[in-house]
Amino acid sequence: MDVRRRPVKPLYTSKNDDVSAGEPLMIPHKQQQVSSPKASDALPLPLYLTNGLFFTMFFSVMYFLLVRWREKIRNSIPLHVVTLSELVAMVSLIASVIYLLGFFGIGFVQSFVSRSNSDTWDIDDENENSEHLIIEEDSRRGGSCVAATTLGCTPPVRQIGPMVPQQPGKVALSVAEKPAPIITPVVSDDDEEIIVSVVQGKTPSYSLESKLGDCKRAASIRKEALQRITGKSLEGLPLEGFDYESILGQCCEMPVGYVQIPVGIAGPLLLDGREYSVPMATTEGCLVASTNRGCKAIFASGGADSVLLKDGMTRAPVVRFNTAKRAAELKFFVEDPLNFETLSLVFNKSSRFARLQSIRCAIAGKNLYMRFSCSTGDAMGMNMVSKGVQNVLDYLQNEYPDMDVIGISGNFCSDKKPAAVNWIEGRGKSVVCEAIIKEEVVKKVLKTEVAALVELNVLKNLTGSAMAGALGGFNAHASNIVSAVYLATGQDPAQNVESSHCITMMEAVNDGKDLHVSVTMPSIEVGTVGGGTQLASQSACLNLLGVKGANRELPGSNARLLATIVAGSVLAGELSLMSAISAGQLVKSHMKYNRSSKDVTKVTSS
Ligand code: ADP
Repeated sequence: MDVRRRPVKPLYTSKNDDVSAGEPLMIPHKQQQVSSPKASDALPLPLYLTNGLFFTMFFSVMYFLLVRWREKIRNSIPLHVVTLSELVAMVSLIASVIYLLGFFGIGFVQSFVSRSNSDTWDIDDENENSEHLIIEEDSRRGGSCVAATTLGCTPPVRQIGPMVPQQPGKVALSVAEKPAPIITPVVSDDDEEIIVSVVQGKTPSYSLESKLGDCKRAASIRKEALQRITGKSLEGLPLEGFDYESILGQCCEMPVGYVQIPVGIAGPLLLDGREYSVPMATTEGCLVASTNRGCKAIFASGGADSVLLKDGMTRAPVVRFNTAKRAAELKFFVEDPLNFETLSLVFNKSSRFARLQSIRCAIAGKNLYMRFSCSTGDAMGMNMVSKGVQNVLDYLQNEYPDMDVIGISGNFCSDKKPAAVNWIEGRGKSVVCEAIIKEEVVKKVLKTEVAALVELNVLKNLTGSAMAGALGGFNAHASNIVSAVYLATGQDPAQNVESSHCITMMEAVNDGKDLHVSVTMPSIEVGTVGGGTQLASQSACLNLLGVKGANRELPGSNARLLATIVAGSVLAGELSLMSAISAGQLVKSHMKYNRSSKDVTKVTSS
């Protein structure tokens, strides 16, 4: 029976303790398994043998006595006349009954003995012990809550800490089965003091960068404090090899490391007469290989062409009036072409790259939504457009003092949410990209037929998506390629939502021999300056595509080129996946590239 030792030392220790500084005292599982005395230990034979013996004795003696009594009845011998053998049998019967009655009480005796030993408990007693454990965990949780507050988070109301199990009955088991062998780096005395202070909630975790003036050290201290607070190992989350200064105040707060995502290369993508090696950050096996095959088919067919249809980032504040009439008055004012020049002058003050293009309004009763659209140079442009909108709101407030600005974003923008307004009006860059794939390429590279692709596209991407009530999802897997390229090039991955809006069209051309394929993507939101684009790895990927940073000769052309590359890559991805599906290869190739032989059931948290 698995028995766990109650931890006898505090979970965390200070540097004065004779343990490696600050290392959580996680007792290894093997050490925790000690044998405890049981009532059954007093028996001369193992418990199961003793039980077997007494059960056999009980039933044989019963049988013997019943046979004897039947004979007596048949021969008219009085029942009270007993032979010596019957007397022995009756004594044995009484003995075995006494034993068996005691047997059913033995579990109780055992647990009583176990519990009377204050140093150990049995997992069979989970229910009783869970209460004790929760109290013990609570003292850690106190620290955890304090620290959570210092980490800048609101501690969850019900779930008190990650080590507190959902079901009380599972407490001992889950904790005992998953010891956390936390690898603690060697820390200096100075760092140890700060770590302890963060753990105790005296130093807010968020203040480490400003207090220490060293972002890497702050991340290291925060990581160590986090491990101690949660009792969870962060081994595997690298700290070294990252420039923490580069994300300060721009990309990520309270860093404790960075996640590694492999970057694969698809290409060359022959697009508008130029070749691109497309970086894709992904952990989905098959994706890069598949996109690469699509690129090959496009290349072998003479390349793809793209057209940028529109380039404008949007922001739509919501303002409220006392009457719908007043809201409508403002709508007519801002949509009046005569006022555009004034409003754009006010708007454009926000940046030398922000240029107001249009303001489209929607009214809901007394509430007015004004969707501002502007060009943003090489920036994706959310900050830029928001600043311009703020300028205009300040201006309008003077003209319309009864206007109540409810929010600078009223969701009519619409950012990071699927919305018809983006699908119809566009947001960011709107791009169409096409290619004619030759018959022999469809056969040799894509291993399918033109007619099969056209039919599948109609039934899957058009009809199937219509049946599903899709919004901008008339494609096979545009978001796969969009996300991978976004991650590699430092785009905002959350904007994958609307950036992946795409309709894929396929048609047989040239007497039905060749395939015309196109993707139309109205909301590709990308930039080559600002946000994550300036980080070293992402910047290297942008450099590979020749679109790193701001384009000085033609501001905005780097971002626009990147948008067309995204669309071209999506075209390649669509071609390849659709071909795989039409040829029935999807499952086979995923089994080859997307399933390792590793036993995933062994992966568990520690
Ligand atoms: P976003 O608006 O995408 O959030 P930011 O406002 O963070 O981007 O970054 C854009 C910054 O880069 C602005 O300060 C802008 O003045 C500057 N910048 C420099 N060159 C360019 C360019 N070619 N296009 C756009 N912005 C540029």
